[in-house]
Amino acid sequence: MTTSPRDKTAPRDIDQPAVIAARTDDVSALNTKKVFIKTYGCQMNVYDSERMADVLSPIGYAPTEVPDDADLVILNTCHIREKAAEKVYSELGRIRKMKEANKPDMKVAVAGCVAQAEGAEIKRRAPVVDMVLGPQTYHKLPEMIAKVHRETGAVLETEFDTLEKFDQLPETRKPKGFSSFLTIQEGCDKFCTFCVVPYTRGAEVSRPVTQIVAEARSLASQGVREITLIGQNVNAYHAEGPDGGQWGLGELIRHVALIGGIDRIRFTTSHPRDMDDELIKVLGEEPKLMPYLHLPIQAGSDKILRAMNRDHTYEHYKQLIAKIRAANPDIALSGDFIVGFPGETDADFEQTMKCVKEIGYASSFSFKYSVRPGTPGATMHRQVPEDVKSERLKRLQDLLYTQQREFNQSLIGKTLPVLVEGTAREPGRLFGRSPYLTGTHFDGPEELIGQIVDVTITEAGVNSLIGV
Ligand code: SF4
Repeated sequence: MTTSPRDKTAPRDIDQPAVIAARTDDVSALNTKKVFIKTYGCQMNVYDSERMADVLSPIGYAPTEVPDDADLVILNTCHIREKAAEKVYSELGRIRKMKEANKPDMKVAVAGCVAQAEGAEIKRRAPVVDMVLGPQTYHKLPEMIAKVHRETGAVLETEFDTLEKFDQLPETRKPKGFSSFLTIQEGCDKFCTFCVVPYTRGAEVSRPVTQIVAEARSLASQGVREITLIGQNVNAYHAEGPDGGQWGLGELIRHVALIGGIDRIRFTTSHPRDMDDELIKVLGEEPKLMPYLHLPIQAGSDKILRAMNRDHTYEHYKQLIAKIRAANPDIALSGDFIVGFPGETDADFEQTMKCVKEIGYASSFSFKYSVRPGTPGATMHRQVPEDVKSERLKRLQDLLYTQQREFNQSLIGKTLPVLVEGTAREPGRLFGRSPYLTGTHFDGPEELIGQIVDVTITEAGVNSLIGV
């Protein structure tokens, strides 16, 4: 049961009924080698790590949670924050010791955005590394491994072959659990002046609709009930639809919603400039689309938004939110914020506080500006002192956490459909997520795992709900 009045339009199923297949791996007998994948950063990296495991399984690698025991260790890295690269080098130092102590023939790979940004530098600084591969080349892992075994010296692959990558990835996914990420778009053309993503993930590329639907069906046939469509700029998605027309994210969501077995859909991360009317309409009409929208603004001051190259004003954002709330009054908003961007004055920061008070957020992510090498922000004047950033972040987070707690407390007494993901720490207690992505705990039998059950909320904290 959902809380909003949209159920009346429950769509016709376009697909034969979903089959909950046993999640056995028929090549498990062949899997003689072990791969340990450590994932840093965003949902895109979580998805990429799962796909790396899918690419490696046919050549005999099975995932392991124990690095010392692995034949192959992959660090799937993130480059968003300061010191990201240094963290990777210190981790490689630990792996070198582990390799020398336990497994001299262990192979080591660095993947993801630090690999893309640092490439050859990693080979120079960390000789323990055998393979360096960017986010768009992990489909080449089998041939890279073969090359490493044939030749001496590390193999480097950092081309931006996004579409080739998706064309070569195994169609079948091996999902973990009942909720799965599905990358539909990669890269970014926005070039916000604080961000490395356009340089590490490349230009915006949208995957073909047919490929996405096939992957969603594969997930549904293995018991996945919730799909989160992801992209650096997921609402910039555009591709040719089966009807030959240009499809945006709205049309794609309506289509994915027709797949049997998929009961919940989410999407992230969006940019205010790409929120089109069709997508806002779908937010109001599609019952399977969860009433939760992550829409970063970063700052409330138009001067800072300009300096960040966000290419929209606070007023534009405010009107967009009003339109979205008119389409779906039940929607919970989430935002991203950066304090201390170069040139940010006290008055600019007060604009961010005013924005938060006026908009109201159910959840959020907030950070101090950190200089990223190679981005325009790194060379800007009037960098804000660290202590000023810390003071502003404290004030902002106090306000955001107050709003988050108030939002969660407004759910007390309400009955929400919760997708049960597994057991919680306390015996007899289960864990799942509300439509607003809030972690929810309640007592119940393990048979409910994988089901969507109605839970009446009795208690609410900042980060989670308790119910019966
Ligand atoms: S929209 Fe801006 S912040 Fe987001 S990935 Fe692109 S450049 Fe980075």
